[in-house]
Amino acid sequence: MDAVEQKILAAVDAQRETLLAFAQDIGAHAEPGFFETRTAARVAELLRGCGLSPQTGLARTGVKAVLQGGAPGPCAAVIGELDGILCPAHPAANPENGVAHACGHNAQLTALVGAALALSAPGVAEALSGSVAFFAVPAEEYVPIGTRQALQKQGVEFCCGKSELLRTGGFDGVDLALTTHVHMIPCESDLLLGNVACNGFTSKTVVFHGKAAHAATAPHAGVNALNAAVLALNAVGLLRETFRECDTVRIHTNIREGGAALNVVPETVVMEAMVRAATLEALDDAARKFDRACTHAAEALGAHAEILTYQGYMPVRPAPANPALLAAAAALPGLSAQCAEPGMQNIASTDVGDLSQVMPVVNFTHGGTAGALHSADFAVTDVDKAYIAPAKMMALTAYHLLKDGAVLARRTMDGFTPVFTRESYIETVRRQG
Ligand SMILES: [Zn+2]
Ligand SMILES: [Zn+2]
Repeated sequence: MDAVEQKILAAVDAQRETLLAFAQDIGAHAEPGFFETRTAARVAELLRGCGLSPQTGLARTGVKAVLQGGAPGPCAAVIGELDGILCPAHPAANPENGVAHACGHNAQLTALVGAALALSAPGVAEALSGSVAFFAVPAEEYVPIGTRQALQKQGVEFCCGKSELLRTGGFDGVDLALTTHVHMIPCESDLLLGNVACNGFTSKTVVFHGKAAHAATAPHAGVNALNAAVLALNAVGLLRETFRECDTVRIHTNIREGGAALNVVPETVVMEAMVRAATLEALDDAARKFDRACTHAAEALGAHAEILTYQGYMPVRPAPANPALLAAAAALPGLSAQCAEPGMQNIASTDVGDLSQVMPVVNFTHGGTAGALHSADFAVTDVDKAYIAPAKMMALTAYHLLKDGAVLARRTMDGFTPVFTRESYIETVRRQG
């Protein structure tokens, strides 16, 4: 272990109690996406305590502070997500809004703040060629359509945090991103290094338009929109055999409005759906088939399907463990680590996927928790593995990327082929929505 690594580990250990208190405080005051004002203020306060000057209010609530290294070089963003998930049954749910950190984002923020404390410690930043942007970002969890529409009226065009930050320039100047999360797929090791593939999704609202009539005396005069929706659901179910296993397609639906009065033929039925798949191509294919099934099932019964498509998240592009992650994990011999492998697939989705289409993402996940994500039984069971180790991993990984003229960061950037430029990303999202 070199002297800078020792300083990083000592700095995090020296701030252990501060970090645990921060994790606990954020965990007890979870806030929904784009409304994380208290959380953002606490992050900004700790970043100021590191001698940094955070920008605030990025994409509403984002906080970013840049630490300059001793020499010029690339900019690595250390990301932490600010939001909780609506989970009123969780014992730590915020009584004001029912939101809880049942996805462990308070652990990410603790890692971010811990990395800022460590990398700004005397003798550490000087060893970096480049800069580190500590970036607390809003709204990773899915923002419901109604909230999205209200936010759009207030100028939030893209309704997930990283996407809106890409649109508004928050990531301009950032060359690569460091992300972490509690384990998102089953993993026995304390650390899982690299990017496991994650499904992307697109969100749909289908309004089936029929014609009202007396349900008993004159059904022949009506067009039953609920029957159209049921036929569409059956058609979507029958499409299942056309989806390849490797594309991990999932289509889940609900009926938000199923008709007005029982003795009236349903005139308007509103169905919501999420279509998920492992690649942009598979997502496109599944979404087109879904649209086709709804359109023609409705036509078959004389109804009409109006399909509204909303922005979802893009798939995470898988990536093997970056050498900087391997070097960081080697400095933490008390923790077990394994690497992401081809074929590992997370069926859920995250807007880290959007980022991974535009810039290199260096990611690890960690343990220290029990219970299922997004559920009332999710809990941190080991504060060192959930809060302290990720802080050390983040700081050490940033150091290994940016030390020695940032050779590993540059190699990571050179080996990355973006699917989109920032401009073409914005155009693509606008076309979807
Ligand atoms: Zn989540
Ligand atoms: Zn999460």
